Amino acid sequence: MRQGLDLELVGLTKRYGDTVAVDAINHHFGSGVYACLLGPSGCGKSSTLRMIAGHETVSDGSIVLGGSDISYLPPAKRGTAMMFQSYALFPHLSVADNVAFSLKMKGVDSATRRKKAMEMLSLVDMTQYEGRLPSQLSGGQQQRVALARALITEPQILLLDEPLSALDPFLRIRMRSELKRLQRELGITFVHVTHGQDEALALADEIVVMNNAVIEQAGSARDVFNAPKTEFVARFMGGHNVLALPQGRFAIRNDLTRIATESGAKLDGKVTSVEFQGTHVAVTVVAAGDQDVTAWVPEEQFFSDPKSPGDGVGLVWDDQALHPLSA
Ligand code: ADP
Ligand code: MG
Repeated sequence: MRQGLDLELVGLTKRYGDTVAVDAINHHFGSGVYACLLGPSGCGKSSTLRMIAGHETVSDGSIVLGGSDISYLPPAKRGTAMMFQSYALFPHLSVADNVAFSLKMKGVDSATRRKKAMEMLSLVDMTQYEGRLPSQLSGGQQQRVALARALITEPQILLLDEPLSALDPFLRIRMRSELKRLQRELGITFVHVTHGQDEALALADEIVVMNNAVIEQAGSARDVFNAPKTEFVARFMGGHNVLALPQGRFAIRNDLTRIATESGAKLDGKVTSVEFQGTHVAVTVVAAGDQDVTAWVPEEQFFSDPKSPGDGVGLVWDDQALHPLSA
């Protein structure tokens, strides 16, 4: 439909009294990307999103959209729209009236409002529910309505704060592919806040990992996963070991950490746990220096030479699989 504009955060800072919730972050979101802001609870994700939306004042720094500073514009004038975790639908308004609400506020006539609302409902596959009240919809349906309501303003950027967290796991996976499809169809930038690394990996063209009010690492989903730069990112993304070796600290993927079948192990240790995970078996070993190291062994390979807690094993890897960590 439209091409999004690029969004730049410049030294963006949020303070609440003595708390620095967002500490002078800099980031450039390319136009038309699906970006995920990922990090643990309290790291400053929602504060960042709310500043972009204009629902929170900027303490310092600026927000630049398509070359214009929007830091001090009211939310409705920014070209952004926000979808909230709780959906915040009006309980007494029908689905169609909820979706058309912002157009009514702008004084758009009722025929145009209805036409536009039906277009948006069609986009999220909800036209047959136009007359229902929110209380007559499932969680997933309410979420589609909330999406349609956010998109009717034709934003350049859609901001989503933990949009899937209220859904059950099955629906969450279905809705996340819907979000991705919508983003592709619309061609606008989505900035999606989540604390789930699997959600970010599944959706994002770009992942921005936050921790303690700063950006730890940003890059393509593949780069952030494959080459974590800090111990925090390696541990938070999961699927990695952090190894303390004589040459320094390194991250290595669990599936690239192997149990030695002959001599030449790089680390020796003792198996402490064995967990069957379907496609692979997670074998955890306590190795030199009391470090826990987990190898994901393909299941067929594991069962051709099973290990049990207490067994002594050696660990090996290709050195190019090691990623040096800066902290
Ligand atoms: P996240 O969304 O990553 O969980 P938030 O941006 O909500 O993190 O919060 C970041 C920090 O700012 C936390 O320490 C939180 O307690 C604090 N904070 C958030 N909102 C407010 C507020 N309105 N007043 C005071 N402190 C706040
Ligand atoms: Mg939050």
